[in-house]
Amino acid sequence: MLITLKEAATRLQAANRILITAHVQPDGDAIGSTLATMQILRAMGKTAEIFIDDSVRRNLQALPHFEQIRRPADGEHFDADLLLVLDTSPDRIGNVRKLTDAPLLNVDHHVTNIGDGYALYVETKAAATCEIIFKLARELGEAITPAIATCLYTGIATDTGFFQFSNTRADTLAIASELITCGVSPHFISEQMEKKTLAEVIGLRDALNTLKIYYGNKVAGMTLDYATVSKFDSTEGIIDEIRVIDTVDVAFLISERAPNVCRVSMRSKDVDVAKIAARLGGGGHIRAAGCTLKTTLKDAEKILVEAIGKAL
Ligand code: AMP
Ligand code: MN
Ligand code: MN
Repeated sequence: MLITLKEAATRLQAANRILITAHVQPDGDAIGSTLATMQILRAMGKTAEIFIDDSVRRNLQALPHFEQIRRPADGEHFDADLLLVLDTSPDRIGNVRKLTDAPLLNVDHHVTNIGDGYALYVETKAAATCEIIFKLARELGEAITPAIATCLYTGIATDTGFFQFSNTRADTLAIASELITCGVSPHFISEQMEKKTLAEVIGLRDALNTLKIYYGNKVAGMTLDYATVSKFDSTEGIIDEIRVIDTVDVAFLISERAPNVCRVSMRSKDVDVAKIAARLGGGGHIRAAGCTLKTTLKDAEKILVEAIGKAL
């Protein structure tokens, strides 16, 4: 069920114990939006706790209040009267679903999220969920402290590739500008986000060695086996190295997370990769999408390259 921003605000005002979560393999928008919302709800006098069923990449651990994020333990229960799911549909939150039976409120910006069976405020034009949380704070009449602004700015900056991707709009920059007025230091966030270890840069070299080109230079892909993936704290951003090839429309990265578990990332300049990902059981945005294929790296490559070929 689709709801308005006002209705989302009303549901938050009515709740007292809010469990906040976001998608597994959390990115800057997932962490930024949950941390910002936790601070906003606590300022309203509510109990608000974040549970995310995954580890958080090192770069994002620099965000204010990061240490508050918990991972659900086996059999754990959390007494909540609202489960707030950010930056994903509720099917990508892992075991957080088992923590509570509280009613669900979903706030997201993914086109593939249709709110089937749960209350959803979705703004597909928003570059990041953090843009929506900014508006929600305004709707709730809550102040944006420098710490909240830092979290929101990080989500917007990372989901737009630091204001470079096609989802960057005038509104995106207007909100970012307001966040800087609220106390954000853009260079501090950029420095934290771009940091890499030596092992990661060496891993990047290994990744580029797997580069393959398909369909007359229109598609470029990299396949990282488990040993290479292990060199990285996060594989986020690797795909950007090949997305930039001038002839390439669709770039992909397949990374083997475990035997027969291959995570797929896609980026495009024209083709709707959200559709391709959805067909393979995943989702995302028109120009950035992903899925998980439960098969070998070789098979995953074959399945993906075929699916992309059909969409070209
Ligand atoms: P990534 O390549 O991990 O940066 O993901 C690109 C976009 O696709 C993000 O908006 C993700 O939320 C979405 N996405 C990635 N993997 C999946 C998946 N398995 N299911 C649904 N959406 C996904
Ligand atoms: Mn995300
Ligand atoms: Mn996002």
